[in-house]
Amino acid sequence: MRHLELPRQPLGFFPTPVHELANLGKLLGGPHIFIKRDDQTGLAFGGNKTRKLEYIIGRALADGADTLITAGAIQSNHCRQTAAAAASLQLPCHLVLGGKSPDSANGNLLLDQLLGAKIHWAGNNRKGEDIPRIEQQLRSEGRKPFVVPYGGSNELGATSFVEALCELDSQTFAMQIDFDHIVFASSSGGTHAGLMVGKKLLKKDYQLTGIAIDKVGSADKSLPQLILELAVSTAEFLKTGCGMDESDLILNKDYTGAGYGIIGPAEKEAISLTARYEGILLDPVYTGRAMAGLIGLIRKGKFKKGESVLFWHTGGAPALFASADELQN
Ligand SMILES: *Cc1c(COP(=O)(O)O)cnc(C)c1O
Repeated sequence: MRHLELPRQPLGFFPTPVHELANLGKLLGGPHIFIKRDDQTGLAFGGNKTRKLEYIIGRALADGADTLITAGAIQSNHCRQTAAAAASLQLPCHLVLGGKSPDSANGNLLLDQLLGAKIHWAGNNRKGEDIPRIEQQLRSEGRKPFVVPYGGSNELGATSFVEALCELDSQTFAMQIDFDHIVFASSSGGTHAGLMVGKKLLKKDYQLTGIAIDKVGSADKSLPQLILELAVSTAEFLKTGCGMDESDLILNKDYTGAGYGIIGPAEKEAISLTARYEGILLDPVYTGRAMAGLIGLIRKGKFKKGESVLFWHTGGAPALFASADELQN
């Protein structure tokens, strides 16, 4: 494997902590629950995109880029972390956000503004459809823009999660724990694909369960297709010699609720239990839903007493403030 030779821009603080959620485990009466704190990566409130951006922006700088462009939803954590990375490197950052300019900015959008990003409103095009036009415009102005892919999910982004699993492996070796399951939010595919490749490379036998956040993948691909294709291309990109197929992919689609970003009773319960029993804040879009999935699977008896489950906290808490109306008691 050659990923250590890839250009990389340090942006976060690693390794992120791993610890047990003993109160929540006791409350639910099922397996031991552990958590991997990628909400603590340190880049402007942290999150899983910090890892991906180290490799992606490493590439951008090696290519001589002087401007970053990326896209996402109005409360995108990916966009906020890209804006923070750009600020730390003193690169202009253009964000193409779905929807239209709200009367007042909150949550991640407020942070995007504080971090100095230039925001372009894209209406229904929340997955970066407008990027080529903006890129063209910047080129015509003599800039060298670099497009950070949607959700940071390309081979470089996924590579950071191959490495994250190696990071976890040395932590669990030191702690002398073995997990039976790893559970995480799966949305644009990079986290999931990287973990799949990492698991194969390290020859681990824990089960990786992605909780699907969105009912849809991209315009032309389903989410499972997207994840598997990225896992295959990442395994090739890193010259791992690992073949990846459908049997490597577990994506649970039972917890997508009323759709992307729509908070239901399950997300509310997961956010509230994790806050009250562990003092840990989840987010309303991704980790709240993924934890709802974990709780649901424990209640269904899928994860059993005596087993150990790791919940990968991928960040996102700034979006809580943008959902204040729905989350208030
Ligand atoms: C982006 C994001 C995810 C999903 O990661 P993908 O690699 O896009 O699947 C999960 N949680 C949070 C908080 C995120 O911002």
